[in-house]
Amino acid sequence: MRRFAGVFRYSRRAVELVWSTSRGLTVGLALLTLAGGVLPAGVAWVGKLIVDAVVRAIAETGHDAHEALLWVLLEGVLVAALAGVQRSLGVCQSLLRAMLGNRVNVMILDKALTLELAHFEDAEFYDKMTRARREASTRPLSLVTRTFGLVQNGISLASYGAILLAFSPWAALLLVAGGLPSFIAETKYSGEAFRLFKWRAPETRMQMYLETVIAREDHVKEVKLFGLGPILLARYQGIFTKLFGEDRDLTLRRGLWGFILGLLSTLTFYAAYAWIVLETAATAITLGQMTMYLLLFKQGQAAVSASLSAIGGMYEDNLYLSNLYEYLEHDPVEHRRTLHDGSRATAGPAPGDGVRFEGVSFTYPGAQEPALREVSLHLLPGRSLALVGENGSGKTTLITLLTRLYAPASGRILLDGLDLRSWDEEALRRRVGVIFQDFNRYQLMVGENVGAGDVAHFADEARWQDAAEKGMAHPFIASMPRGYRTQLGRWFKDGRELSGGQWQKIALSRAFMRSGADLLVLDEPTAAMDAEAEAAVFEHFRRLTRDRMAILISHRFSTVRMADHIAVLHQGRIIEQGTHDELMALAGRYAHLFTLQAAGYR
Ligand code: ADP
Repeated sequence: MRRFAGVFRYSRRAVELVWSTSRGLTVGLALLTLAGGVLPAGVAWVGKLIVDAVVRAIAETGHDAHEALLWVLLEGVLVAALAGVQRSLGVCQSLLRAMLGNRVNVMILDKALTLELAHFEDAEFYDKMTRARREASTRPLSLVTRTFGLVQNGISLASYGAILLAFSPWAALLLVAGGLPSFIAETKYSGEAFRLFKWRAPETRMQMYLETVIAREDHVKEVKLFGLGPILLARYQGIFTKLFGEDRDLTLRRGLWGFILGLLSTLTFYAAYAWIVLETAATAITLGQMTMYLLLFKQGQAAVSASLSAIGGMYEDNLYLSNLYEYLEHDPVEHRRTLHDGSRATAGPAPGDGVRFEGVSFTYPGAQEPALREVSLHLLPGRSLALVGENGSGKTTLITLLTRLYAPASGRILLDGLDLRSWDEEALRRRVGVIFQDFNRYQLMVGENVGAGDVAHFADEARWQDAAEKGMAHPFIASMPRGYRTQLGRWFKDGRELSGGQWQKIALSRAFMRSGADLLVLDEPTAAMDAEAEAAVFEHFRRLTRDRMAILISHRFSTVRMADHIAVLHQGRIIEQGTHDELMALAGRYAHLFTLQAAGYR
């Protein structure tokens, strides 16, 4: 019973969704459904009138077939109307499907925009989103058409039942009871199919990922040269074989039980046939009535089995929709509260105090070891800070906290004397310009790739050029065939590719788009540039950020030494900090690393 109720759990919401997508089409769908439900019974009834009129014409000599012909004409009209109704239903559904698919996808993507970085890194939540994206855009309409289909068949069945009642209430009961066993089997197996689908999310995701690696341009070089193709393909095939085994079992069981229980229904129906035939032979009913009852039973059987598969499908649709709504309604309040306390301050109590880290510790969700421990730092406006340390020492993590993508587990980060958590989102974003190591390479125009640094000026060509000049990207952009309007990326016709160093110049220019930002953060921005370019970039950078704060992560000490203040991280802790000269005098880790690198150049 609970399962049966589950069939309708999301029907109302699906209808609401469809209703709000297009009222006209929903009303059309409802009316056509009604007409489609009543017409078949009408056709059967007219069939009876035809046969009876013919029998009368034969019995009464001199009586012509005029009346029978009129009924034939009427039946023709009804059948044509029914065909028209079905065709129109199809058209309505196609239109709705397109509109609804788009609507649901936009809802899903809209929701994605409100999520925090942590959600994208949470495998379980990510699975939910992938599942929603993969299936749910077709499911709402499917649920609605099935609900309407069920109503239509219900109306037909009720009208058949009403006519059959005149023959015998038992006959009406038989019509419905015959379908019950199949219905039970149907719900049981759709539930099982969905559970399979849900359990498998990780495997399916791996399959999708393997597809990407094998078939995407940005992976092809390595896959080819390392000969990874066959191994990856074999793994892909292996996952299929495993999943297919489970699928096959389920499909076979479903087919077998469907057949056995379906046989039961057929038996019931034919028993009813036999009964009607016997009654006619005993002249208890007319030949016309017999024709009608037989037709009703035949169509009734079809309606019952259509309803059953609709119910089975609806059950499945509901399960998928529950996933969609779980995703859409996921409200990460808890998480957001740790990031943001709700106040919307646009200025701090101590302008000019710059950035302060006070005893900041942080552990990634699910990680064993903290990525940052008790970090304290102070950076004043007009000063630059360089972060040094081996890979995994916590440099990027420090930046993620500073940009409020994650919140510290303990300690505080202050900007102008105000806790980051109290800053207004917009105001904070305006103050900080960041280029991450893994910055995005948008397959858009070159100019837009620069413009992406400041959405307010995304399409402002004058600003593009200004920023590109500061980021030293202007010369190579200007030499491209369509200048700033050159399309990048191989996904598009005539899309150009850039070298790693050129991309970094684009990223750097992107940072300069934020002319209002007074804190610029560059996470290894120059690793792919040639030495000459790097030196020039930093000269430039220092000049342009004279009255701003700059944070720089780099492994090149020739660059690092130019910073006003240097912090050395080791396993999440700051182990040394000071100016280059102070740290050299300290003869500690920094001095060791610096001398090591300098020796390499001698
Ligand atoms: P660095 O930038 O100094 O190379 P990171 O700040 O990226 O180092 O990493 C610090 C530590 O945090 C590493 O041990 C790394 O494995 C871990 N880490 C980095 N990013 C994540 C993440 N998104 N989820 C979980 N752990 C992470």
